[in-house]
Amino acid sequence: AKGAGRDTVALFSDELRAAARRRLRVTTELREAIAAGQLVVHYQPLLHLRTRTVTGVEALVRWQHPERGLLPPSEFVPVAEASGLVDELTRWVLATVARDAAAWDDMGLPLTAAVNISATHMGSGTLVSDVSAALASSGLRPERLVLELTETSVAEDPERAAEQFAELRVSGIEVSIDDFGSGFSCLGQIVSMPAGILKIDKSLVQGIAGSGHKQASQSAAAVETVVSLAKACGMRSVAEGVETPEQLAVVAALGCTYAQGFVIAKPMPAEELPRWMGARSR
Ligand code: C2E
Ligand code: CA
Ligand code: CA
Ligand code: CA
Repeated sequence: AKGAGRDTVALFSDELRAAARRRLRVTTELREAIAAGQLVVHYQPLLHLRTRTVTGVEALVRWQHPERGLLPPSEFVPVAEASGLVDELTRWVLATVARDAAAWDDMGLPLTAAVNISATHMGSGTLVSDVSAALASSGLRPERLVLELTETSVAEDPERAAEQFAELRVSGIEVSIDDFGSGFSCLGQIVSMPAGILKIDKSLVQGIAGSGHKQASQSAAAVETVVSLAKACGMRSVAEGVETPEQLAVVAALGCTYAQGFVIAKPMPAEELPRWMGARSR
């Protein structure tokens, strides 16, 4: 039994070493990928439910890997966060998104563009200046930019989040709380944040329809509660992960401000968006 224990320890540390090696390899590769222009941003439309118009997009990063193909953020964003590379990645995303949104503006497509920000970036103290730099170099109006921070990252350091949110909003940039309802954060803390938008996590939205009757009505009640909470706090709401026409009808009926999800459109490359918008309005 003693021997077996030792083997387990040896195996465990082998695995840890392998994981560390893998992380290091991805970090090195990712740093090169940013420099080599292998990252791409895809954009997913947000539908304004009252007017049924697309008024904004969310920017979602991908890695066009030379051997492994198009990688989703789950394959490399956590590594970037753990290795301290994420601020550099986000600066690249901010610059790209600001440039794309400024170009859409010039084409007569005034869209807001939301960028996902990691918790570590909020703590690093460069967030506000990084955002200003992206706006300055693109000429994009601050009103066009939205920053998304998850409920859990806000809960890590609420005071600091509140400070930076206030500073960003003074300069006209909107702040959105992402994945709301997925964590167990202090509700009072989250709703007292100076943020303008609450994004309802897809786990709540997807429970609405297609699941068992009991769960469906409970999920709808949860979404309804979040929508009225947002309204009472003077915030707009987004239902994310809307996959079916039925879910879309329910979130619209519950008074959500926006909907986002595959039923409207999947994330698409920047150059496809104007065409998609054109086809929609016809
Ligand atoms: P998120 O911010 O919650 O983004 C929404 C995710 O849900 C996206 O996955 C999107 O493609 C997916 N999605 C949209 N509509 C639907 C739907 O109807 N059904 C389902 N099942 N999924 C839907 P994606 O692009 O794989 O991104 C995953 C996560 O990676 C994001 O979650 C975000 O936390 C993170 N991420 C993406 N881009 C960035 C970035 O530039 N920086 C940072 N720090 N994180 C990012
Ligand atoms: Ca997001
Ligand atoms: Ca989300
Ligand atoms: Ca998420």
